[in-house]
Amino acid sequence: LKKVRIITIVGARPQFIKAAVISRAIRESFSGELEETLVHTGQHFDEDMSGVFFEKLGISAPAFHLDMGQSGSNANAMVKPLSEIIQRIKPEAVLLYGDTNSTLAGAIAAKVSGSKPIHVEAGLRSGNWEMPEEENRVVTDHLSDMLFCPTPSAMDLLAREGLVDGANKVLFSGDVMLDSARHHASLVSFDPLRQTLGIQKPYCLLTLHRGANVDNPDVLLEILATLNDLTASQGLNVILPLHPRTKQTLAKIDFSLPKNIQVISPQDYEAMLCLEQNAELILTDSGGVQKEAYFFGRPCGILRSETEWTELVAKGGHVLLGNTAFSIRNGFDRLGPGISVEQNDLFGSGHAGHFICREIIKRYRTC
Ligand code: UDP
Repeated sequence: LKKVRIITIVGARPQFIKAAVISRAIRESFSGELEETLVHTGQHFDEDMSGVFFEKLGISAPAFHLDMGQSGSNANAMVKPLSEIIQRIKPEAVLLYGDTNSTLAGAIAAKVSGSKPIHVEAGLRSGNWEMPEEENRVVTDHLSDMLFCPTPSAMDLLAREGLVDGANKVLFSGDVMLDSARHHASLVSFDPLRQTLGIQKPYCLLTLHRGANVDNPDVLLEILATLNDLTASQGLNVILPLHPRTKQTLAKIDFSLPKNIQVISPQDYEAMLCLEQNAELILTDSGGVQKEAYFFGRPCGILRSETEWTELVAKGGHVLLGNTAFSIRNGFDRLGPGISVEQNDLFGSGHAGHFICREIIKRYRTC
């Protein structure tokens, strides 16, 4: 049988994590039927945002590396080089993850090169069109030939947008990040990590990287000062693995960090999961970290006024805090106990990777 050839396009940290799930499934079960060529746009390029994920998640080195991060990672600039690669390799389909500029550029490049975009993590909407991620999601979904939904509500949403039962194929796969969290959780022991990082329990784990929170120094400092007060009053330290975008803003201003906030470097994935599992509370504007809080039954404050993972808020373990002192103070008291995925698997069974590979092979196998 002829192998189905796919190109996988990744560029940012969460995409390395998601892509590792499918690459592992191919290695374990589908290497005779599915052949993957990995392309890295270079949107994230630092060692601790990129290199370490390739090493530790066992992803093979990308066949193509575009270095777009250095020259500004806008989607427009990526389309041409991606199209050239797609036209050279002529894959049956191009696999895309999530909602970054690399996702959007990959979808357009696949389309204009006569290939078929496949979107993993399809059907998510925050309703906030000020986020570039929202445009990336919507356009990628509407260009895609196969759409894999992480949740039943994502399926419903795509039905409302007229994408179910069209010429494309829309399927509920469950979330590859659940596969990933189950595979990599508990591989790092907390005690040595705590000692290396100099962390004291009990702590709250904080991540911030959305433009709306971190690009304007006043907004960022207001969030940090408010969280410092609220967590200090509960006897919690705050551990902040600093995203490069946030670091860039802080580097431009003269400030001193609130005393309760301890900055650490971005962590590798398994260390990050370990920090999440041991946190009393998780505060984040990240999509992936919101879900991981749920997987590990941690209460989670979302530093945004809306989320594309609406079911997490509906379950009650997650609270939308917004990003002003007023809204954060208001929401903080409502942070209740977390709800673990083991009690209610909103995100499928943890076998999304194998499901996605099987369905790709079924759809694109030519003989
Ligand atoms: N993550 C990590 N190290 C860190 C911070 C986050 O490995 O220092 C992981 C986190 O566990 C999650 C993913 O990165 O799996 C989330 O990525 P990010 O917050 O950059 O993007 P988003 O999910 O918002 O698209």
